[in-house]
Amino acid sequence: MPNLNSYPLLNHCPICHALYAKEDVRLVEEKDRAKLYHSYCQACCHGLLAYVLEVAGGVSSLGLITDASGVDMARLANDPLVTAEECVAAHRCILENSRDLCQRLLDMSGKLA
Ligand SMILES: [Zn+2]
Repeated sequence: MPNLNSYPLLNHCPICHALYAKEDVRLVEEKDRAKLYHSYCQACCHGLLAYVLEVAGGVSSLGLITDASGVDMARLANDPLVTAEECVAAHRCILENSRDLCQRLLDMSGKLA
């Protein structure tokens, strides 16, 4: 575990700015100088995926708010990668069925019930 104070994405929640507890930041995957962390905020219950890349002379990082839990991340890290063809097929499916998809989402949200 790195010194959390060195990585702003790993020491506090970007949503509510609460400090993370040490046990709420977990290393999901590490490859060469790149690390993927999952953080969970006990205060606002949001998760964050933080990609941290150590480069010569510094650190580059990218964060993504997620509703995936730490358990989800450990499971997904071991799943096969999604291919470009699968992404295109999903896009086409959503595009061709957008009316039904929107109707179902509205029904689920209770706005038309
Ligand atoms: Zn928070």
